[in-house]
Amino acid sequence: MFNCGPDSSFINRISSCILAGMDVYTLADLRDWGGVTGRESPPIRLSVMGDPVAHSRSPQMQNAALRAAGIAAGYGWLHVLPGELGEALRLLPERDFIGTNVTIPHKAAALALMDDVESQARRAGGVNTVVVEGRKLIGFSTDGPGLVRAIRAEFGVDLRDLRVLILGAGGGAGRAIAVQCAIEGSARLVLVNRTFERAQALAAELAPEFRETRVTGPLMRLEAAPWQDGPLERQLAHVDLIINATPLGMTSPELRRVSPVPASLLRPTHLVYDTVYTAGRTPLLLAAEEAGARGANGLSMLLHQGALSFEIWFGRAAPIEVMRAALVADSN
Ligand code: NAP
Repeated sequence: MFNCGPDSSFINRISSCILAGMDVYTLADLRDWGGVTGRESPPIRLSVMGDPVAHSRSPQMQNAALRAAGIAAGYGWLHVLPGELGEALRLLPERDFIGTNVTIPHKAAALALMDDVESQARRAGGVNTVVVEGRKLIGFSTDGPGLVRAIRAEFGVDLRDLRVLILGAGGGAGRAIAVQCAIEGSARLVLVNRTFERAQALAAELAPEFRETRVTGPLMRLEAAPWQDGPLERQLAHVDLIINATPLGMTSPELRRVSPVPASLLRPTHLVYDTVYTAGRTPLLLAAEEAGARGANGLSMLLHQGALSFEIWFGRAAPIEVMRAALVADSN
């Protein structure tokens, strides 16, 4: 066990978790769970597993939800290294866990470690929510459905009615969002990625779901586009919603300054959603503001994917306002 991890780039998150009086546990702790956490009240029966993990705000949000719902269980951080994921997951039933969330970099690896996977997670190519059912582990993905709720809450529109451009369509979050656009039947989908081949491969996979003709302008309903100013400018003229699913804009110094799209390419009619939630206004959101476009950061996606996890674990509505308040309090 250590108090929230030694990585100095997460210093703010660390101090927040120390202030919350909570520890970051490790696989060694999970092996001796009764000995290490036996005095915790309520007992920790849910977690977020990641590497790094101390930056995660899920414990603050889920513990507030558990308290509000009168559920006698706690939710903790579990720092699990890539080589440890299998053992950590397998220990959960023995340690009387209800389930866990899985975050960077484990979502794709967790998929292969489940006894059963619901279809959305299989299509998204990753698991972010695990339910312990007896000795079995069942995998779900709430990232895509969480984004649908977030877009509706932020902009008052539905993903299915929008022409969407995803930056970072080769990564885990970008893929989950693209699959969700296919499931919703979004009017148009443009996949952009630094490594273009990944966007092309995903477009080929989703192509059957975008065959149906809809009037979307002069361009095709589904396209992969290279991340260069010319093609990007052409595509941006024919989309409504731009989603950043890259880490550009996160708090690390080299990613913080860069906007994935310059303000000069944005229009006042664009809706801009940045999945990054570690900074209030990311460079992309500042560019959106400069262009007169509406923007929102990834806090609402975090909230709604977490609320959906809660609903999966407990089969009842999540206390969403309590969770939101816990996240906002943690941001200040
Ligand atoms: P990931 O699987 O590692 O994917 C990263 C993606 O970003 C890839 O498409 C990668 O492109 C691209 N990328 C990385 N560095 C880049 C750079 N310097 N320039 C351009 N593109 C770059 O990560 P992930 O799990 O999808 O997470 C991505 C972001 O989504 C993170 O910021 C995370 O916080 C956010 N997220 C937010 C929520 C939420 O609830 N708000 C949920 C999930 C994820 P290549 O294919 O070329 O490597």
